[in-house]
Order: sequence, then C-alpha cells, then structure tokens
Amino acid sequence: MNIVLLGAPGAGKGTQAAKLVEEFGTPHISTGDILRAAVKNQTELGKKAKAFMDAGDLVPDSLIIDLMNERLQEPDAATGFILDGFPRTTAQAVALDALLSDLERPLDAALLVDVDAEVIIERLTARRCCKECGYIGSKADGVCPKCEGEMYQRDDDNEATVRNRLDVYAKSTSPLIDYYKGKNLLVSVDGDRPVDDVYTDVKSLLKL
Ligand code: AMP
Repeated sequence: MNIVLLGAPGAGKGTQAAKLVEEFGTPHISTGDILRAAVKNQTELGKKAKAFMDAGDLVPDSLIIDLMNERLQEPDAATGFILDGFPRTTAQAVALDALLSDLERPLDAALLVDVDAEVIIERLTARRCCKECGYIGSKADGVCPKCEGEMYQRDDDNEATVRNRLDVYAKSTSPLIDYYKGKNLLVSVDGDRPVDDVYTDVKSLLKL
C-alpha cells in the first residue's frame, strides 16, 4: 500500500498509521517524527527546523522535499509506505508526484481523517506521547499503557501553538483535499469516533 494520510494535526493520523503498521507492517513515515528526532539529536536539519516547529509553523518546503526524496528511496519504502504529515503544501504534493512517478510507485489513496477544529484543540492540549515507544495517549495515561514508558507533552501541544497549527493547516494543507480529489485518490473517514471504529472504516476504504 502506498498511501498519504491527510487531516489536521491531532486528527488521529498517527494513531491510525500505528494500527496499520501493527497489522500490515508497512513502513510509517512521519515527517514530524523524523524532525523531532533531528531536533533531539541536534543535526543540521534539526537546528534549521526547531524554531518553525516550536512556533507551529511549517518547516520550509525545500528542506522537507530533500528529506523525503532521500527517505522514500530507502529500501524499506520499496515495499510500500504510509506518509503521515507529508505532503503539507501543494509544492510538496507536486514534488511527491514527481518522485513517485520517477520511482514508478503511484499512490493508491489519500486518506483524509476528518475532525472538527474545536475537538482537535481539546484533544491536542490533552495529548501525551510515550518517550520510549511513541504511543499516542492522553493525560489520563499516567504511564504508557503499552510499555510503561514515561509519557510527555510535545512542546507544540500548548493551546496557542495548536491554534496556529490549525490556521496553518487551513491555509496551506487543506487545499490538498481538492488536489487529491482531482486525481480521484481521496477517501475520507469521520475521525471523531472511537479509534477502533475509525480503523474498521479505514481498512474498508483502503480495501484491506
Ligand atoms: P506533526 O508531528 O506532523 O504535527 O509535525 C510537527 C511539526 O513539524 C509541524 O508543526 C511542522 O513544524 C513540522 N512539519 C512536519 N511535517 C512537515 C511538512 N511536511 N512540512 C513542513 N513542516 C512539517
């Protein structure tokens, strides 16, 4: 499966991707995860990306496109991929099309996980992630229910930054819904339901 996950930050893309990975083993490629690791390891990319990420703004297209050109040519991605958080602008989507056309690996679908902005603000300010395994939970989780690792709040999950991230999504990323509709690749799921209900629909929409 070669798929793109679309949806606002906090819509549940990462959670659905984790379930697909668990069941099908397809590589989950999250630009947010790659960038957070780069910031943590203080790489050149991380140093360039940090201020944008802390403000909830997008990292410049050129950095992201170079990063994904490399990542998608790694051997594991030849078996399929779930792209989470990329593309986020029309320029990124056009670059992705060009790369996939060169690699002769067309997209199967762009899956929109659809959730209202007000629900997102509540969800993201309560979101906590596991330091050890990356599990995405909420502040009700004292420790990670999967591995008992320590849960933490992402720096960009405070209300002011979340509001900015939603504005950025509306302005720069939501046009991709029409972009993929125009290519007959868009499928959409109501993400404001229990995780397993959403997942059942995701599999059926992706014909898995
Ligand atoms: P995420 O984990 O997907 O919410 O991403 C966290 C942050 O990383 C975003 O708010 C952006 O600052 C940055 N980021 C992740 N993916 C991209 C992308 N495709 N283009 C630009 N910035 C990105």
